[in-house]
Amino acid sequence: MPVINRIADFHAEMKCWRRDLHAHPEMAFGERRTADFVATTLEGFGIEVRRGLAGTGVVGTLRAGSGKRAIGLRADMDALPIHEKTGCAHASTHDGVMHACGHDGHTAMLLGAARYLAETRNFDGTVHFIFQPAEENECGGQKMVEDGLFEQFPVEAVYGMHNWPGLPVGAFGVCTGPIMAADDKFEITITSRGAHAAMPHLGDDPIVAAGAMIGAIQTIVSRTADPQDELVVSITQLHGGSTWNIVPEEVVLRGTCRYFKPELRRLLDGALRRVVEGIAATHGVVAAFSFYKPIPPAVNAEGPTAAAIRAAAMVAGDENVRRDVAPSMGCEDFGFMLAARPGCYLWIGNGPIRDGVGLHSSRYDFNDEILPVGASYWSKLVETVLPRGI
Ligand SMILES: [Zn+2]
Ligand SMILES: [Zn+2]
Repeated sequence: MPVINRIADFHAEMKCWRRDLHAHPEMAFGERRTADFVATTLEGFGIEVRRGLAGTGVVGTLRAGSGKRAIGLRADMDALPIHEKTGCAHASTHDGVMHACGHDGHTAMLLGAARYLAETRNFDGTVHFIFQPAEENECGGQKMVEDGLFEQFPVEAVYGMHNWPGLPVGAFGVCTGPIMAADDKFEITITSRGAHAAMPHLGDDPIVAAGAMIGAIQTIVSRTADPQDELVVSITQLHGGSTWNIVPEEVVLRGTCRYFKPELRRLLDGALRRVVEGIAATHGVVAAFSFYKPIPPAVNAEGPTAAAIRAAAMVAGDENVRRDVAPSMGCEDFGFMLAARPGCYLWIGNGPIRDGVGLHSSRYDFNDEILPVGASYWSKLVETVLPRGI
């Protein structure tokens, strides 16, 4: 596989960065050590660094030639609230926190590309290396956009990459249009007067109401949405009650909706509220409905996707770039950046899934073999999108 030779030369160093980050994982907006490591490492390459965007976000800026064009490359830095069970030598030293999504690898690959590009400067224009906080659940990507990422660091396109267990090492996967789904998390709080379990007629029952809501919510996909649209609505939490003989005063339901067409949010908002309010009225309880930090789908634009495919093919070979992968119903807060600027998000193969160990598993570990593959992809992308004049 033709990874860039100079990048292969410092593979061992990238592996050290990745393992050090793995051993010191930090959760959303708490990535202080990680951000400091990223900023200091970039500065060591002679790259101009801006710290503290969106709290712990870091942006490195590298210019070459006189070109006015600019692109952004983005990696995520945060870890997950999981107790690591890999047993590996570089396992997490932070109790209950783990890099179970490979963001340690994403950070190391982008640093590797930054090092190579700073050494060679074989491009014409500006590259912004964007290291974002809080990709998992807490919308760090949105915060970066809201805090002026693209006003302070203007780009014509922005690119993201995620490791993908199940895709072979040395392969890439991408598609034009949506690649990752929207994630509209929601919460329903049902309140009632409660009752003695033996005398339910003296109060109201939020548990029976919750059961009816759970059943009725299943009909949104089957009866309300267009059968041609991909849509998932899952109830994932049900909280209520304290003992055997009390009908509680409150039940909380939580769940998530996944879809690709942005206009489905309105349909879901209307349908969920209709079900919740209607069933609450039927059961004589009060129900409050709200969305929690919704994330838009990640939608790849045509031009940047073609550029990403060209760059990936230079590294992996044409036959190893899968151009028509089925989009995932998983979500990615890079969707916020893609909603603000055109761009492309692609998957880099992390190797086979063994014993069901994939992303977010307590036994998952990023595959260090792919570090030079990803860093080479980033570098080729910059050199092909911002070519140096001859
Ligand atoms: Zn994740
Ligand atoms: Zn991730």
